[in-house]
Amino acid sequence: MRTPLIAGNWKMNGLSADAMALADAVVERAAGLDGIETVMCPPFVHLPMVGDRLKEGVRLGAQNCADAEQGARTGEIAADMLADLGVSYVILGHSERRQFYGEDDAAIAARYAQALKARLRPILCVGETLEERDAGRTQAVVAEQINGVVDRLESAAGLGGGVIAYEPVWAIGTGRTATAEQAQGVHAFIREILAERQPALADEMRLLYGGSMKPANAADLLAQPDVDGGLIGGASLDAEDFVAICAAA
Ligand code: PEP
Repeated sequence: MRTPLIAGNWKMNGLSADAMALADAVVERAAGLDGIETVMCPPFVHLPMVGDRLKEGVRLGAQNCADAEQGARTGEIAADMLADLGVSYVILGHSERRQFYGEDDAAIAARYAQALKARLRPILCVGETLEERDAGRTQAVVAEQINGVVDRLESAAGLGGGVIAYEPVWAIGTGRTATAEQAQGVHAFIREILAERQPALADEMRLLYGGSMKPANAADLLAQPDVDGGLIGGASLDAEDFVAICAAA
């Protein structure tokens, strides 16, 4: 039985007052939710103040971590610094990191390994562009991105306590959502890859869908047998919408 997980990716939004107000509103509304894990991933600088406002049931996540331990990496944040602030989850390999900051599978694998070392749970994002989907390359791209990380992780535990988020790039922030059937198809394929590469994890690993998920489409997507939750961008900035999605899980 996989506990549903809904994670809000706040991206680079909000000043400190906004972050505190949003955190308070989510915590208050999420109080009655049972049987799901809820995570808020604010920008790094807001982590301590959002962390201070959390109550039972809502966890803290970060949007990235460094590919190395503490030391000479100007501008980066080490995984153990995040763990020290009470962070439980860390988003890795988001398409915006791949697109705007050139993070490739090797960089993402190094960050993943650091996250596991610090006992954070990585949320590994994978997904194809519209061009790749139109060229019939969705499965190839997703397999490449997962194997590109698994191949580089040294320990037999591999992906460990991580989570995979399938986020078709063409659905992120565009208002265009994958249909429930499209999402389920790719999620089932990801579980097949896991069965080959990480058999011990194939059944237990949670697979999230991300890409314009909102209250109106969440129930349909989350009803799919291999969709175990969501990674929510835009809608996570509205406490009411975010908690409505959590309630649908
Ligand atoms: C995301 O950036 O992870 C995301 C899913 O964004 P949105 O929900 O806005 O499409």
